[in-house]
Amino acid sequence: MNNTGSPLLIPTKTLPAFKPANTDGKIFTRSFSGRFRNWRIGAAGLLALLFFGTSWINWNGHQAILWDLDTRQFHVFGATFWPQDFMLLSLVMIIGVFLLFAVTMVAGRVWCGYTCPQSVWTWAFMWVENITEGDRNQRIKLNNSPATFSNVARRSAKHGLWLVMSLATGIAFVGYFIPVRELTLNLLHLEWFTASAIWVFIVTALTYINAGWVREKVCLHMCPYARFQSVMFDRDTLVISYDARRGDARGSRKRDDDPKQLGLGDCIDCYMCVQVCPTGIDIRDGLQMDCIGCAACIDACDEVMDKMGYARGLVSYTSEAALAGEPTQILRPRLWAYVTAMIIMLAALWIALDARELVDMSVVKDRTVLYRKNSDGDIINVYRLKITNKTQTPARYELRIDNDARLSLTRSLALDLKPGEIVDMPISVVMKGNSAGSGMAHFDFVLVDSNSLLTRATANFIYPAF
Ligand code: SF4
Ligand code: SF4
Repeated sequence: MNNTGSPLLIPTKTLPAFKPANTDGKIFTRSFSGRFRNWRIGAAGLLALLFFGTSWINWNGHQAILWDLDTRQFHVFGATFWPQDFMLLSLVMIIGVFLLFAVTMVAGRVWCGYTCPQSVWTWAFMWVENITEGDRNQRIKLNNSPATFSNVARRSAKHGLWLVMSLATGIAFVGYFIPVRELTLNLLHLEWFTASAIWVFIVTALTYINAGWVREKVCLHMCPYARFQSVMFDRDTLVISYDARRGDARGSRKRDDDPKQLGLGDCIDCYMCVQVCPTGIDIRDGLQMDCIGCAACIDACDEVMDKMGYARGLVSYTSEAALAGEPTQILRPRLWAYVTAMIIMLAALWIALDARELVDMSVVKDRTVLYRKNSDGDIINVYRLKITNKTQTPARYELRIDNDARLSLTRSLALDLKPGEIVDMPISVVMKGNSAGSGMAHFDFVLVDSNSLLTRATANFIYPAF
């Protein structure tokens, strides 16, 4: 066990680091291909599509996802959630946390390597770097070259594209809180000194700095999840690992050489696994905290193994148990506990969604006058009713009195509410003068829609002896 709390993770600073020549300590990754890269592009593409799509696509005439700060309404694919529905959001977040725990326990840092926005945007920025400045060796050369016209043009193209991508990200992100079309039009009309525009510029700057400049340092020094996720690892968690028993002793050789005769293992010491690593570590030194589990080193090494005619998998997904020659157990008690907690939360979410009322009604009795009598001697109580149409469609409601036959409204009331509209109005309830007794009657205001009951609110009616 090392001081990270995990039997697997080794603090990188205790290991001799690979330092590529002439790079001023910067990481210049090499491009590569492979199945895990394809998986990552697929996952990242899907997430990017969701991120940009859900702020720009309209659903039933509304932005698919919008957290409208002005009206404090959260619109999600045709449904509107109000501040009083935030318990549902908490349930969704708890389910997400348990899902993340379960996935991390089974497959290690797949979230970090494949779907974390920091990783996804960094890979996208690295792709732009590659097409504007060339692959690793060309970028190292460019880094060490004077500022010629061609070098400046290539660097400018890279930074220009990074800025465009950052701005698109900033607009889409702020567009989750302010209608994105309205926001874009405001920016196009040079309304740059509004709160929303300033937020766009802040998110743009953060994206540009994080994905373009800071990159892996966010994962290494700033991300809290990277710090505590090692406690979810155990001997059966899948991690990316170098098979030292197969690979050592390392050494270069010709393709046709027999490594056994040379006293070598399968690692040809080509450093390809190091050169593709976005955090610049050498996976052959053991699993390290700086490894974000992106599997780039697996793809790079598999490519080398293919070229050498060796079996793939010198660097692979494995577990500590498998490395010790024991079978890897996927289903284990802690995983069952996470899955059970997730199922319970999903059931609670389902019940809460099913019970969610699409109209909200609250009632407050007018406290200035307990009751008054009209010219016929009837007793009248006055209330303030607040009714909210929580849907994204217009609605017609009828207000009725229930649970006390002595009470009625002073007038029948049908209400037409626009999507999301809130009405706040006084309502008078009357008790005929010939009712007996005195004191307090309990009754309900009910809202009906085509004769089906939508919601009810309880109130008290105060009356004196007649
Ligand atoms: S060691 Fe491999 S899996 Fe880990 S960050 Fe580097 S390339 Fe990705
Ligand atoms: S890519 Fe494979 S063969 Fe090359 S150094 Fe890394 S582990 Fe060894």
